[in-house]
Order: sequence, then C-alpha cells, then structure tokens
Amino acid sequence: MPESVATENALPSRAEQPALSVRSLAYAYGGGPAVLNGISFDVPHGQKVAVVGPSGAGKSTLLMHLNGLLPETVPATASIAAVSVDGVAISHDTLPTIRQRVGFVFQDPDDQLFCPTVREDVAFGPLNLGLSREEVLTRVTAGLKQVGLSGYEHRSTLQLSLGERKRVCVAGVLACQPQTLVLDEPFTNLDPRARHSLIDILKQFPGTQVIATHDLDLVVKLCDRVVVLDGGQIQADGPTRELLRDRVLMEKHGLEVPWQLR
Ligand code: ADP
Repeated sequence: MPESVATENALPSRAEQPALSVRSLAYAYGGGPAVLNGISFDVPHGQKVAVVGPSGAGKSTLLMHLNGLLPETVPATASIAAVSVDGVAISHDTLPTIRQRVGFVFQDPDDQLFCPTVREDVAFGPLNLGLSREEVLTRVTAGLKQVGLSGYEHRSTLQLSLGERKRVCVAGVLACQPQTLVLDEPFTNLDPRARHSLIDILKQFPGTQVIATHDLDLVVKLCDRVVVLDGGQIQADGPTRELLRDRVLMEKHGLEVPWQLR
C-alpha cells in the first residue's frame, strides 16, 4: 500500500485536517546559518495567508518547503516530516500527492515556463498527473480561460509580456486543480493592470492560499491572515488588519503600515 494512503487512513478524515501544517521546521543552506528556525503554524482549508517580512527573512525558503522544492529536506519517512498537507506528511513516497495538492507559482516565470508554446506549458502539469489527452486539453482550455488567456494556446511564451507569462504560470498550476496555491512574490514587476488581473484570479480561487509578498496593500485586499517572518522565526501571526495597522510591529520588521490602514 502506498505510504500516502496508509498515512491518510491512520489519521482523522481529511476534512478534519488543516490544509497545511508546519511543525518545528528548521533549515540552513549547505551548512550555513539557520534560515528557518523552529517554524510552526497550521493553515485551515480555504484560508488566505500572507507571509510578510524583510528581504532575507526566509519567506521563499519557507514556501519552498510547502511542496518539497528543496529535495534534500524531504524526509525518507513520514514520521519525521515537518510539513503535512491535509494530514499527509511529506516524504519521498508522498511527494507526488503533496505536489498534486499544493501548486507552486514561482516569482520569476522563467523558472516555471520552458516549453515552446503556451499550450504545452499549461499541459505539462496535467500530463505529469497521468491524465488522458482529452482531459489534459480540457484542463488547458479551462486554465487559460480562468486567467483570461483563451486563444493564446499556440503563442510562444517568449513573446508574451511579464504579466501574461505570470498568468500562464498560474494557468499551468490551476490546470492541476490543486487545493492550495503557494505564490512567491506574485506581484513583483507587474504593471497596475497586470496586478489587478492577478488579484482577480486569486480572489476567484476558492482554495487555500499562501502568498509571500512585500505588497501589503494587496495583502489587505486578498488575505485573511498575516504571518510576519523575520530572522527565520514567526514574529507575529494574526488577522490581517490587526497586524498590519500595528506601526511598531511593522517598523520593527522592516515593513510599513499599508496606505489603506493609515
Ligand atoms: P526572503 O524570501 O524572505 O527574501 P529567502 O528565503 O530568499 O528570504 O532567503 C533567506 C536567507 O537564505 C537569505 O539570507 C538568503 O541569502 C539565503 N539563501 C536563499 N537562497 C539560498 C541559496 N540557494 N543558497 C544559500 N543561501 C540562500
């Protein structure tokens, strides 16, 4: 029996489990200083969480742990896992399940897009799930529609704007029908129209979201909860407006109270 199934059966039903659970997560790159130092938090299903903090706080590193993007951190056995998704502890055996449930959108579309056409890029994830050709095409069409790029199937991603490339990335992730979206700095370098287009897409996604961003005005619009990360530790965790209007907290961690809350 695959470990993912065994793990699910051994635990309460998925509905009772948080979408994401992180326990005592610690990490250092290549024997360097600690980048994450004892991170613990749960994210209930459907919650939209912003991870904020100064550059170098460990936000990207934390997000990468949420779907096993740092291979050396994925344990061989689930019993020592620091990250669980719907009660499934991350391990070598459960990694495909974890990646199916948690879709990751990279900050830089060039880290995600590598096929000659938009259609091939969006189809890549669904094809890897082993879906039929017909189902893959259905998902590609639906994914591109969701991000407002119907008709772009045969375009080269090299000939698209940054905002369009980002939307192709999101379409590829949505086409895998994840329960949770993890997005690393999704709004960086986007012009206002592209930002608003992406906000609308994220608002319409009904699942769980974890977003690392410096754009605190967008956090107010999009997220229920904020986790402040600094020095590899959670410094504050609570409702968006309550935390982001706390000037002392914001300044202590290199942040500013967003305009809407001043
Ligand atoms: P943030 O996303 O909050 O800016 P990161 O997770 O990118 O923070 O980085 C946290 C720390 O880890 C920084 O000090 C950064 O220099 C370091 N770091 C990030 N990636 C690597 C890497 N591949 N190798 C070594 N150190 C890294």
